[in-house]
Amino acid sequence: MSTLYGGIEAGGTKFVCAVGTGAGDLRVETSFPTTTAEETIGHAIAFFQKQQEPLAAIGIGSFGPIDPNPASPTFGYITTTPKPGWTNTDFTGTIQRALGIPVSLDTDVNVAALGEHHWGVAQGLDSFIYLTVGSGIGGGGIMNGQLMHGLLHPEMGHIRIPHDWNTDPYAGCCPYHGDCLEGLAAAPAMELRWGQPPETLPVDHSAWSLEAGYLAMGLANFICTLSPQRVIIGGGIMRQPQLLPLVRQKVQELLNGYIQTAQILEEIDSYIVPPSLGEWSGVLGAIALAHQLG
Ligand code: ZN
Repeated sequence: MSTLYGGIEAGGTKFVCAVGTGAGDLRVETSFPTTTAEETIGHAIAFFQKQQEPLAAIGIGSFGPIDPNPASPTFGYITTTPKPGWTNTDFTGTIQRALGIPVSLDTDVNVAALGEHHWGVAQGLDSFIYLTVGSGIGGGGIMNGQLMHGLLHPEMGHIRIPHDWNTDPYAGCCPYHGDCLEGLAAAPAMELRWGQPPETLPVDHSAWSLEAGYLAMGLANFICTLSPQRVIIGGGIMRQPQLLPLVRQKVQELLNGYIQTAQILEEIDSYIVPPSLGEWSGVLGAIALAHQLG
């Protein structure tokens, strides 16, 4: 009998829980709205407790910020989130104590990256990044074979990028930085700037060229800083099919031939790619994280 793992995709609005061995073998799943920490984590525990077969471990990909440092007393906590009822929540420990099996937690983007590394478009790579562009902008990935951590974890959405106020007089909406990348290019910024939800903007609207420009500036910075072997870019905004080709073109323009590799000069379509695991990437990544525990 193959070893079964549990996975939790812990999003700000919805939790998805599943049991299985990996891609192509998810046996049971459920989802429920994210309410208070106590109630939501309680639902997850109840789901895993009612499984007939024993689970070896559970992985969690979580909204943040989180504490991913195993040496820290608050390891596995959701820390300073503004989300009501979740500040300083011992997410990992609560589940570990209730179920008596190993539990691991990482950021939602790192976990989605891990899923793509196991079963998707990042198989065989030892350095790649994963950027998600939706209600916020988050980034993570694997560098030299390890999930990206550090002081805490990367906050790629909050880098500062050039903002031409003549072209784009919108001030940005990040509560911390105003016009950081997330403040200019996440879905709320698009909606506030144009006065309508981004998915309702026509494909030939100038919004998409502006958006592609901001995302390309972010990616060019990450490519120059981290030298990833591939860039995965997903999230709700990237579902607009006209956007990814524009982003690729603008990344090439910004790098301007400086990084002399075939991947960037000739094979950009297979260098900057969408994720391949679809709507299950989060929970599959969480199961991949659980694999690392045993
Ligand atoms: Zn910011």
